[in-house]
This record gives sequence, C-alpha cells and structure tokens, in this order.
Amino acid sequence: MDEYKIQCTDGIYTIETKLIGKALLTIPQLNKGTAFTMKERMDFKLIGKLPLKVETLSEQVNRCYLQFKGYKQPYKKNIFLNNLLNYNQVLFYALIVENLVEMLPYIYTPAVGSAVKEFSHEFRMPRGLYISYPDMNFMDTMIDNRTNEDIDVIVVTDGEGVLGIGDQGIGGADIPVAKLMVYTACGGVDPSRTLPIFLDVGTNNKDLLEDPMYIGWRRERLTGDLYDEFIEKFVSSVKKKFPGVLLHWEDFGREKAYENLHKYKDKILSFNDDIQGTGVITAAAVLSVVNITRVPLNQQKIVIFGAGAAGTGIAEQICKAMIQSGISEKKARSLFYLIDKNGLLVSGIDDLNAMQDKYKRTKPEVVNWNKNKSGEYSLLETISQVKPTILIGTSGVSGAFNKKVITEMAKHVEMPAVMPLSNPTYCAEVVPEDLVAWTNGNVLIATGSPFPNVIYKDRNYEISQCNNALAFPGIGIGAMLTKSKVITDNMLYAASIAISDYMSRVGGSNVSLLPTIADSIKLAKIVARAVAAASINDNVNTINIDINNLEKKIEKDFWIPRYLQYEFG
Ligand code: NAD
Repeated sequence: MDEYKIQCTDGIYTIETKLIGKALLTIPQLNKGTAFTMKERMDFKLIGKLPLKVETLSEQVNRCYLQFKGYKQPYKKNIFLNNLLNYNQVLFYALIVENLVEMLPYIYTPAVGSAVKEFSHEFRMPRGLYISYPDMNFMDTMIDNRTNEDIDVIVVTDGEGVLGIGDQGIGGADIPVAKLMVYTACGGVDPSRTLPIFLDVGTNNKDLLEDPMYIGWRRERLTGDLYDEFIEKFVSSVKKKFPGVLLHWEDFGREKAYENLHKYKDKILSFNDDIQGTGVITAAAVLSVVNITRVPLNQQKIVIFGAGAAGTGIAEQICKAMIQSGISEKKARSLFYLIDKNGLLVSGIDDLNAMQDKYKRTKPEVVNWNKNKSGEYSLLETISQVKPTILIGTSGVSGAFNKKVITEMAKHVEMPAVMPLSNPTYCAEVVPEDLVAWTNGNVLIATGSPFPNVIYKDRNYEISQCNNALAFPGIGIGAMLTKSKVITDNMLYAASIAISDYMSRVGGSNVSLLPTIADSIKLAKIVARAVAAASINDNVNTINIDINNLEKKIEKDFWIPRYLQYEFG
C-alpha cells in the first residue's frame, strides 16, 4: 500500500515512488507503457525496456481502439478491456471515457453477463477482495490485504441475484468490478479509492457445483443465522476500517437484498442499486412521462408486471417520489397494480412477501373482473379494467406484452408509456419495433437493455434505456461529497427529479424519456449536486460544504484519466 504516493505541489500532481524497472511496467496503477518520458526512463531504470518512441496517451488510446475493434464477439471485447485494465489503469479509463457509448456495454451490462458465467473457466487475474465464509475468522486481515489504503466506495455482492441470470456463485465477483468501472468512468471516482468485494457464501447453482473448474466455495449457500453473522462481521469490519465509506450492495438475492439494506441502511452509508438505483431511474422516466403527457402524477395508473426485487423496488421508489411531491401515501399506493406469477396481487393470495403485500388490491376492487382458467386476474384483464397510463415489465418473461395487451392499453390512453425492463435483451417483454407499430407510433418507451432506434413511417424513434448507470454514479458521488450519514428518500427523489429535469431541458420535442449514456458524465455531476444538496437539507451531512460551492467541489474532485509525472522518492 505504500509503493507510491500522489503529491500535489502548486496544483501539480506527481507520483512519488521508489519502484524501478519492471515493477513500474507491471503495476497497472503505475504503468504508462510507451508514455514514460525519456527522463523517467533514465530515472527509473526503464531505458531499453521500452520501444524508442515516447507516445502520448492519446496515441496509445488510438492503438487500443483499433485492437478493440479487432475483436468481434462482445465477450472477447470484454476480456480485451479487462486485460488492458490489468496492465494500465489510466490507458483503460482514457479509452473507455473517450468511447463511453460504444464501450460501456462491454465492460458492464450486457457483456459482463457472459463474463460472469464463464468466470471459473476464464479466470486470469484476481481483482478486489474475495471474502469467503471459511476464512471468516480472518475478516480484518482480509480487508487489510487490500491494495489501496484509502477507500471511499465499496461495491459488494454475494452473487445470488446477478443481473437477470440468477445465482452465479463466484462468477458474481465480476459485478462489483464492473460497477466500480462505471463509478470511475461516469462519476469520476478515483479508481484507487474503490474496492470491489465478493462475499463467498456458496452457491445453489447446480451446474456450478458440478463444474470441476469452479473456483468458489463448493457448497450450498449459507442461510439463516450463519449468513447473518457473516454479513454482520463483514459490515462491522468495514465500518471500523473505513468510517464514512459508501457501501454499495449489488446483486444479492431478492430477500437478502431487502434484509441487508433494511438492517444496515442506518448503521453504515448504504445504497442498493438493484432496489434504489433502479427505482430512481425508473421514477425519473415516470416523471418524464408526466412532463411529456402533461398528465399529473396523481392521475397516472401504473401496472408492474413481475413483482420481484426490481418490480417492487420500482413501485416503492415511484411511490416515495409521489409522496415527496405531495400525494398521500394511501393515494400513491392506490395508483399501482402489481402482477406476479399468480396474476394480480390481491388479498387472499398466499406467500406474498412484505414488499408485495403493500401493493395488494382488495377483493371488492376486483369483484367484477374476469378470472382466467387458473382463477387469476391476468395482465390483459388488468389492462382492460385499470386502463393504465404506464406499463412496466420486470418479469424476465420474453414477449409477455403481446399485441393484444398493447393494443388494449393503447385503446384507452392517448400516449401510453411502456417500459419492458427485463434483461438481457432476449428477456424483454416486448421489443420497441413492435411497440411502435402496434400503437401507430403513439407510445413512450424505456427499455432495460439497449435497443436501436426504430424508424416508423419516416419518423425516427429514439429508444431510451432505463440504465442505472445514469443514476448511481451521481447518487454515490453526491453522498460521498457531503460524507452523508445515510441516503435519505429526499436524496433519491432529488436524483430522479434532476434526471427528468435534465431530460426536459435537452429532450426538446423528442419523445425519449431518459438521457443517453453519451450524457452520463455531465448528468452524474448534476445528479451529484442535487443529491448532495438534499443531504445537506436533510441534515445528514457530516462535513460542512456551502450548497453554492457544490459544483466547484464536484469538478475539483472529479478523477480524469491522465498520466502524472514521476518523481523518485
Ligand atoms: P426477480 O426474480 O426478483 O423478479 C422477477 C419476478 O417476476 C418474480 O417475482 C417472478 O415471480 C415474476 N414472474 C416470473 N414469471 C412471471 C410471469 N409469467 N408473470 C408474472 N410475473 C412473473 O428478478 P429482478 O431482480 O426483479 O429482475 C427482474 C428483471 O428486471 C430482470 O430481467 C432484470 O434484468 C430487470 N431489471 C432491469 C433494470 C433496469 O432496467 N434498470 C434494473 C433491475 C432489474
């Protein structure tokens, strides 16, 4: 951890290190490759170890871009980019930032899904920490074995609920790594102040358990008290080592995601992107629907198909946004209709979890509705009875929003909003091309996976992606900026408002609901400002910053990939 120090004298940053020769070419945080200057090559015993030409970062980026283009399969592109990060951190981020729109899908979703599945087979280099239950007694030692001393943000997973592909055991370790890449590329978080952590509590994925190459803990997942005790020990160690750190929980299974967030959100600065981040970005899309259609929030009716972690989390976040905007909780909840495997959630259905229970409808409300053969209220029946303005899909059921469903919805609403959010692409409840055709172009769309624009009757429909990457970097840096004690509902609401306001400013006459990834860096700063201001207004900041100086501070702290000069010492 003391191999090098970054110094700042008169606003000029330099790297001070005693390392020489090969070490400088193999530590990714220090390697500049062909960009080491002649003086540095002499001072650090690198002369003769590099080709003669001293290149600029930009020249290196151009070469890497051509190499990247040489790979055809998304998964190979993901491997190429990860290998690049293994040997040169600045070059990796410079390449990503310069080509953000093109490259984000290869470091993050959807390509990271394939990397996760192949983790044990393609494993090359460890990254971050692997904290396994059998090593639990060495919790503090494992955390001390990290590479970087000071940590601002940790992304942690136990790999139980990865993307839309479920329990991936140790493969889930790729997710915190990818998420932190986005924090850095879009949110300007210094990568050497981030720490990805995988908590290995086993896996229930039979294929993995039977795979001789599997490199995680080969046994069924821990449950109950043993699991809780492990998480407790982890959180208290993190809290002790890094007071004030942002602990970002990612891709836990549905129950654990809620339990952990609920249990620790007031004990350590916590954020769960699957629940809160997804909620924030979808609430932003809903606020954009309000801006475009001019139908106020309290007159929107929202059907959510797939009442799992994402579906109920989205309902909760939109509901909170409604409450913050002045609607009573009772009224807000009454605007939602949630559907799961057994049809509409209605009282009397067994096995509703606590989150689903909040949204169940009463029996008298549906007394005149038609049940299907299985005795349930179907999606089509719900659409025809409720006449919703917004339909959200988080079921993972490809094609569930068929022509009948969409045309029924469009019969009753001038401009329906449909959000098939299920990932990966083949899980989408409907594809935008069909949506546009079935509604004769009168539709607002946001999807979970990226889709190309749709050309219909000579009009170009830009398809918004409900991408959490538009929300979580800004939320994270906003909370870190004020060293917030917790993330409050107001902070999350402020993020949704900031995103939809930005959209209404830049969107013009377009019918897109959300900004694009091309805007993500600019947006992260805007969201961060709004979130930090809400933290101050809610009195949960632990450092004093003048609200009027937030922008300056965000700009000043924003990490950008560039090479620093080396000094021996
Ligand atoms: P989950 O397993 O917790 O939830 C899925 C829910 O769908 C479950 O409750 C399941 O019972 C229900 N379901 C399954 N079949 C159904 C059917 N035929 N009819 C109605 N309901 C059915 O998973 P999750 O974490 O909530 O994720 C769901 C989907 O949302 C995934 O595809 C995920 O990729 C996507 N998602 C998208 C975003 C985003 O776009 N920003 C964010 C998070 C999740």
